[in-house]
Amino acid sequence: MTKEQAPETIAATYGVATDAAFGAVAPPIYLTSTFTFEGFEQPREFDYGRAGNPTRAMLAEALARLEHGAGAVITASGMAAVDLLLAQIDSDDLVLAPHDCYGGTRRLLLARAAKRQFRVTFIDQSDGDALAVAFSDKPALVLVETPSNPLMRVVDIRGICALAKAAGARVAVDNTFLSPALQRPLTLGADYVIHSTTKYLNGHSDVIGGAVITADADEYLKLAVWANVVGVTGAPFDAWLTLRGLRTLFPRIERQQRTAGMIAKYLEQHARVCAVHYPGLASHPGHVIATSQQHGFGAMLSFELEGGVEAVGRFITAIGTFTLAESLGGVESLISHPATMTHADMGVEARQMAGINDGLLRLSIGLEHLDDLIAGLEKGFGA
Ligand SMILES: *Cc1c(COP(=O)(O)O)cnc(C)c1O
Repeated sequence: MTKEQAPETIAATYGVATDAAFGAVAPPIYLTSTFTFEGFEQPREFDYGRAGNPTRAMLAEALARLEHGAGAVITASGMAAVDLLLAQIDSDDLVLAPHDCYGGTRRLLLARAAKRQFRVTFIDQSDGDALAVAFSDKPALVLVETPSNPLMRVVDIRGICALAKAAGARVAVDNTFLSPALQRPLTLGADYVIHSTTKYLNGHSDVIGGAVITADADEYLKLAVWANVVGVTGAPFDAWLTLRGLRTLFPRIERQQRTAGMIAKYLEQHARVCAVHYPGLASHPGHVIATSQQHGFGAMLSFELEGGVEAVGRFITAIGTFTLAESLGGVESLISHPATMTHADMGVEARQMAGINDGLLRLSIGLEHLDDLIAGLEKGFGA
């Protein structure tokens, strides 16, 4: 065995120059629903596209290696990835989820719990007392999102995995906000990593996709079988685009987080900003844990604008460079207003409990020049 390649090399070159048919440098895309049998009772490695596809398999192997996992299942969306994992939970089992988790994940958990497919509890996972109480209920699965959306709260992955292990629970970390370039939860003790590949992994805002990566090989097989049973595997074209996006993951996110750090500092000293949530700031409550478990602070941040919803409306109407849209992790910078967009479904009370107020704005920093991004924000503040 040769030495394991550096993750930058895996991302840039996994599957490159492996085409046996024509020696294509870029891996070809296999757009086919089905595959020939070599002969009677002689199936090939792939037989039907729902179960397996070479293009999708190549993306899966690349992601599994980047996350230090035993295998990866590529799904049609990030939500399909979360749901694939939730389908493994028994009806009496308890799922422990963060009180400020991704809006779609919260909606899915509540909907499945309402159908009695499992029980769910939402807690502040950075609160040690709340965690101790929650673990005494013997959860089967703990979902973790760190940094969280949209407040960028940081959860101690090693700590929560130790508690889970003692309680006999599995831990799944949604690593969408950082990608394996900046955080590798399986190396910190997690059992599963979930991705919305829609975000940083694809990185170009032109694909919806997801992945579940497992630490354990048998768990991978279980999930791969179930993904075929229910038919939630991703399309080959989406896999091909995502693999293409993955090539530049490291340089993209390194540049994006450098710009994000500077924007966080700019916002921190702005008179009309009441708070900035970015784990890279020394003032951030999760800064120390982030430093110990992340390889960078990422390119997502949020801040609270003085003056509530009215001020937010004026700010967003006047802002330049940033585009008003949900989603994140693309080459273009986006701004969103959680209270009326991503977290509108939550309702006022749950938002208040999670600390998401009406003046909160979330930024996903892209690849534009810092000067243009600051100029865009200045326009917003000038309104
Ligand atoms: C976007 C997102 C999801 C859902 O992924 P889709 O690809 O939109 O289905 C799940 N978790 C997080 C943290 C996300 O940002």
